Amino acid sequence: MAKSPIISCEFFPPKTEKGVNTFLQVATELAELQPAFYSVTFGAGGSTQHNTLDAVIAIQQRAATTGIDAAPHLSCVGSSRQGIRQILQTFIDNDISRLVALRGDLPSGMRDPGEFRYANELVEFIRAETGDHFTIEVAAYPEVHPQAPNANIDFDNFVRKVDAGADSAITQYFYNIDAYLYFVDRCEQAELDIPIIPGIMPINNYSQLARFSAGCGAEIPRWLSKRLEAFHDDTASLQAFTTDFLTDFTQQLLDLDVPGLHFYTMNKTQPVLTVCERLGLLTP
Ligand code: FAD
Repeated sequence: MAKSPIISCEFFPPKTEKGVNTFLQVATELAELQPAFYSVTFGAGGSTQHNTLDAVIAIQQRAATTGIDAAPHLSCVGSSRQGIRQILQTFIDNDISRLVALRGDLPSGMRDPGEFRYANELVEFIRAETGDHFTIEVAAYPEVHPQAPNANIDFDNFVRKVDAGADSAITQYFYNIDAYLYFVDRCEQAELDIPIIPGIMPINNYSQLARFSAGCGAEIPRWLSKRLEAFHDDTASLQAFTTDFLTDFTQQLLDLDVPGLHFYTMNKTQPVLTVCERLGLLTP
């Protein structure tokens, strides 16, 4: 029988009291999935640093009862070594031992890239400063990072992150399973021995997804974008369709024995919970 995949869920850090309440509510509801960890994004240049920290501390403080670890994202662009050192120490002081190490993108208006140029340098720094304290996740791009000159160079850069000490990778979301399979194949050929966890993006709003996908280089297949476009303002029908779509998509990944599933929750319980329920991933 296939092993159950490791589930993880990603949140963005809430900024308001209402947002914090929603986040805690969603985190409680998604605990039914028994995820290994909840990750929380981090605004490059440190813009959401305090909110990220508050959110991960809240998750980690509950870890003894929930079994769900916190995994802050940490983006290095625009940062100094000393600044990153302090953040790592704060994580350690709060019993956090897992993180997602990223370069990030410089926020508009910010010009100084700081002391790190790429994520591999951050991974190297974390290992040099903290040894094996952290389980380090990095980002992977089955459809190629949008700034990469070509797929081969992008893959070589991915290998640098693994060589620097990454334990596992989470992919940018994709809706082309072949892109994921070819990427995993390539990792195997390069003898990279780390799990490549598919990142799964639920679809709640087509125009938002289209905009976001154009920026991050995730392709929405033509048939899918045409179907989504046709729902216009009929949110209920769109949600019914996308929940079915996501269920089939995730089932196909499970059939491939993927090592894990990382859900980009957008701080919403649905459709992730329903999809997992339909797939029999909720523990009784
Ligand atoms: P890198 O791995 O450094 O790659 C960035 C680009 O530089 C690529 O084109 C790569 O080919 C190239 N490159 C890499 N290394 C080298 C090198 N040594 N020499 C030359 N070129 C190189 N963004 C946030 O701001 N906050 C978040 O919390 C966040 N979470 C994310 C989580 C996941 C799972 C993913 C997939 C993305 C996330 N992002 C987040 C977005 C991410 O920050 C952007 O995609 C960013 O543009 C690249 O970050 P990276 O860590 O992949 O960069």
